Amino acid sequence: MPTLRSQRHAASLIAPLAALTILGAAASGQSSRESIPERNLPAFWKSRLEDVENAVHGVKKGAMSVLARTPGGRNVYLVAYGDREDRRGSANYNSAAGGRDPASYARKDGTQKPVIFLLGPVHGQEVEGVSGLVNLIQVAETGRDFRDRPWPELAANLARCRVLIVPCGSPDARARCPYDSWVGEESSTHQRVGMGTKPDGSNHTWPMTKRIHPMRGPDAATLGAYWNDSAINLMHDEWFDPMTPETGAFFRLAREEAPDFIASLHSHSVPPSIEPTAYVPWTVKQTIEALGNRVQKRYAEAGLPYCPGGPKPVEDGIKFPPPFFNLASALHHACGGVAFVHETPCGVRTPPYPKVSHEQLLDIQMLLYDELLRFAVENPVNWKK
Ligand SMILES: [Zn+2]
Repeated sequence: MPTLRSQRHAASLIAPLAALTILGAAASGQSSRESIPERNLPAFWKSRLEDVENAVHGVKKGAMSVLARTPGGRNVYLVAYGDREDRRGSANYNSAAGGRDPASYARKDGTQKPVIFLLGPVHGQEVEGVSGLVNLIQVAETGRDFRDRPWPELAANLARCRVLIVPCGSPDARARCPYDSWVGEESSTHQRVGMGTKPDGSNHTWPMTKRIHPMRGPDAATLGAYWNDSAINLMHDEWFDPMTPETGAFFRLAREEAPDFIASLHSHSVPPSIEPTAYVPWTVKQTIEALGNRVQKRYAEAGLPYCPGGPKPVEDGIKFPPPFFNLASALHHACGGVAFVHETPCGVRTPPYPKVSHEQLLDIQMLLYDELLRFAVENPVNWKK
């Protein structure tokens, strides 16, 4: 039986607290108060910043480093497994593509070790991917997740790849979310904590909440966990003139490591999905669909909520409004990698969303990593055709 721990422990990272009251402080000086009912979570559920700290400082087989410091003064950690191969070429990716030879940027001839970049949640209320990546670090270290469940193929493939894990993409945002799990909570609570509130007390709602960025000014009564302490949504920064240091760090890592695959982990309320990435080559869209088909098959076979398949490639911008050039789109153009967003359900109890347990939420994460690494090992990238 897993031991149980209290959800309220998350609060200890934010501020000294009265019993059940959490103070989520925003850089703007605005704050929101959330009363969190006491509840117990399974011991394998590792979604807190404290869990990330424990995991990265316990790494023995990999290498831990601080990738960036956030505007709120928190560390963004990187854990890397697998030796780094020297594949760097003579040009940056954009120039190499201009020279009609992406391999002038990174030598990929189908014989090199796959490189996978797993970017943990950049949205603070999307805690599920943090728990997944902390469990993945445990698999890399011991072959088992925190349920003591073995993942032999995943562990073997971890040893065949270079895997870059950023367990929490936005610690500022995560620190502003007092909930460690959404299983059994109301969707409206999830929305309020994530999106923040308006001056009239109502919740900001997706996607309209993206119409103010940075999220400052009179309409931002309380800052949700969607943003870092500079009120930046890391999915929609200014790629050519970043407004926050995390963005620069993600791009430096992508340029230096030339990952073959980049997964940006997110959460929503509906069945898990691999989302289409706009403004990337058709071949990349086809690979995202093929990977998505395989991941959804794994979910279906495991009795988890699933979608019919991966995203079908579409032409960008045939209809108005145009698609967005988000973090996944931009990271592709830094390194040529197959960059995509993965969304997991979060387990809210509100109909019509699928009810999922912590066990299932962890399975959704682990099966994604398992299938992604399998796919990468089976399909080594060859830019020398
Ligand atoms: Zn998100």
